[in-house]
Amino acid sequence: YYQDNTIIWLNGAFVKAAEAKTDYYSQSLHYGYAVFEGIRSYQTADGDTKIFKATEHYERLRNSATALNMPYGWDTDEIIEATYEVLSRNNLQNAYIRPVVYAPANMSFNPNKESYLLIAAWEMGLFLGEKLLRVMTSSFQRPNPKGFRIEAKASGHYVNSILASQEAKAKGFDEALLTDMNGYVAEGPGANVFFEKNGKLYTPPTGNILPGITRATVIEICAELNIPVEERLFTTDELKQADAAFFCGTAAEVIGWESFDEVKFPATWNDTLSRKIQLVYKEKVTAAGKEELSKAG
Ligand code: PMP
Repeated sequence: YYQDNTIIWLNGAFVKAAEAKTDYYSQSLHYGYAVFEGIRSYQTADGDTKIFKATEHYERLRNSATALNMPYGWDTDEIIEATYEVLSRNNLQNAYIRPVVYAPANMSFNPNKESYLLIAAWEMGLFLGEKLLRVMTSSFQRPNPKGFRIEAKASGHYVNSILASQEAKAKGFDEALLTDMNGYVAEGPGANVFFEKNGKLYTPPTGNILPGITRATVIEICAELNIPVEERLFTTDELKQADAAFFCGTAAEVIGWESFDEVKFPATWNDTLSRKIQLVYKEKVTAAGKEELSKAG
């Protein structure tokens, strides 16, 4: 993630990651009390670097911090400018950007007068590639929204993601799918889920999931392509009857599934509406995707 000369932005200053300091008594380190974002930048057709949905991500960061009672005084436009500067100082175009809002030294549960903001970035190409995923139902459920601010992208929630993802990989699967506290399909450890059935798409409603920015983009793409999409609760049994399914997220982008709990999806991925959405998503974010889309017709 970083080398000797990597530059990060820390509380308003550009500093070397290798020399930056943090506090071992931070409430964030001890209790998982921090919020973060996962953002991508892409090289555009004309060679520029563009951060995809920068405003949406930084507004979600502000909302996450506020949901956890963490002070957040940064201006979104100024932070976006600082992020572009991090990219250019590190010579990055296709990158993953990781802002983290964290707490100062505080071993109590009391609120803090200030927060710290760190912005790091590193090179990232296509995340999971084109290979279709083998997904299993996790034995872990997503955190109960009555015990957490589930709409916030809070660091502590990711213990649940790590457990689910590690379990799936230990059992020989590519990724986990988690249900909510009532047993309905919720999301992956780091991505939202859609399925396709008879020319229509379905995704769980917000409430028990992270309101994904890619999820919102997929819904936008469906509107552009006149593909009906319904947000409603469904079970893992219904998901098993689908024609196709995919995860979507900033890092994962749109990535199709081969099977769910070892049940293969009947549709050929390249013939699905989901595949069309995958291509349009790539076209929206990358320059190379444009050629791929025209090749695919
Ligand atoms: N759900 C979870 C639990 C996630 O961590 C992510 C990744 N941030 C998503 C969904 C997808 O969100 P987005 O599309 O905004 O990256």
